Amino acid sequence: MVICAVTNQKGGVGKTTTAVNLSAALAAMHYHVLLIDLDSQCNATVGSGLVVARNQVTLSEVLYKQADINQAVVKTNYGYHIVPSNHRLTAAEMHLLNKPEKEFYLQKSLSQLENQYHYIIIDGPPALNILTITALVVAHSAIIPVQCEYYALEGLAKLLKTIEALKAKLDTQVAIDGLLRTMYDGRNLLTRQVSEQLLKNFGDRVYQTVIPRNVRLAEAPSHGMPIIAYDKHCHGSSAYLALAAELVRREQARGITHSLLEGERYAG
Ligand code: ATP
Ligand code: MG
Repeated sequence: MVICAVTNQKGGVGKTTTAVNLSAALAAMHYHVLLIDLDSQCNATVGSGLVVARNQVTLSEVLYKQADINQAVVKTNYGYHIVPSNHRLTAAEMHLLNKPEKEFYLQKSLSQLENQYHYIIIDGPPALNILTITALVVAHSAIIPVQCEYYALEGLAKLLKTIEALKAKLDTQVAIDGLLRTMYDGRNLLTRQVSEQLLKNFGDRVYQTVIPRNVRLAEAPSHGMPIIAYDKHCHGSSAYLALAAELVRREQARGITHSLLEGERYAG
């Protein structure tokens, strides 16, 4: 099982778009995927076509320890499973703040999963809050979407420092793997310059795959669909399929593949 936290405290950089579309692309490659919506904006839940009923078990009840994570898992229409969220997650986050070992809550919940998943993708909030920390504690990989614009690099330094501090303090395994250029517009000089800076500073920790600015990617969530279901042939679809393939290659190269990855793909 490979756990990837899609994270960046900067808002609107493409975290949810990446988490949803990467999940759908990996599912299309016949991997078992669980998406966890760790943001009280619940964009990943809505973008996966789900409407959370009033008494439905969500991630909040799991964090309150009122429910087991298996009770919160639901199937989407797009081949992957999801642990949905709703606005209650804000209060659940506050609740967590007073708990001892709060950093390990998500880790403990994920260890209760009965189903075997090849990939667990976590969509994080635009903050370096306790929810983000719980994700970074349990994740093998941090995928950091970066919009190639002027302030992108500033926030990045802070995020990378936090991740290093966490690794030292909590003895976690998370690796930056890696930085993902999103909403890329190659005609824009600043975009190209920031992209060059990223490559210069972070080398092969930058994904080769670049996610282009693509209006279909912006439209798909309002239909509650990942891009490959909404418009299979657009540039956004090809980009996220390429990203999924690159992610699989990278994780295999790092040797954190689960035995499920080699043998037990399911057809469907
Ligand atoms: P938040 O920090 O609020 O959680 P986020 O980092 O999850 O935001 P998204 O919600 O994925 O960012 O994207 C922000 C906006 O940009 C959304 O309206 C989304 O549809 C749009 N968007 C994301 N990626 C692209 C893209 N490659 N091309 C065009 N629009 C995009
Ligand atoms: Mg988001």
